Order: sequence, then C-alpha cells, then structure tokens
Amino acid sequence: MEDQRIILPPRATSFRAVCSACQADQPASRGYLGAIVEGALELDDDRGSVVCQRGHEIELVRETPAAALR
Ligand SMILES: [Zn+2]
Repeated sequence: MEDQRIILPPRATSFRAVCSACQADQPASRGYLGAIVEGALELDDDRGSVVCQRGHEIELVRETPAAALR
C-alpha cells in the first residue's frame, strides 16, 4: 500500500476524507462507509498526519496560498 496523502486548502482547518486502504479492505457494497477519516490541521501548520480508525497513517499537507492562486 502506498502512503496516503491529503492536500488541504490554505484556509481549511478540518476535513473529511476517505482512507483508500480501508476502502480497499472492505466489500465494495459498503462504498465509502467505514472508510471515512476525519481530522484537523491548524492554520499555522504546513504538515501533519492523521490515523484512521484502522490505524492507517495519512499524511496531511497544507496547500500553499501561491498554489491556490493558479
Ligand atoms: Zn484506513
């Protein structure tokens, strides 16, 4: 399994995403249910990480304002 990474918009402090490792691990009939991971990143932080319910680590990366202007 490759490392997972979530890119957060410059002003986002919390997010909801799907852990693809969990999603791959469960029946397709469940869809995204059970694979949702929620977390938060302080505005001042450029990087962080979150661990999903099943222990997969997901890297958080803050998108820079410059990148958002493109
Ligand atoms: Zn997971």
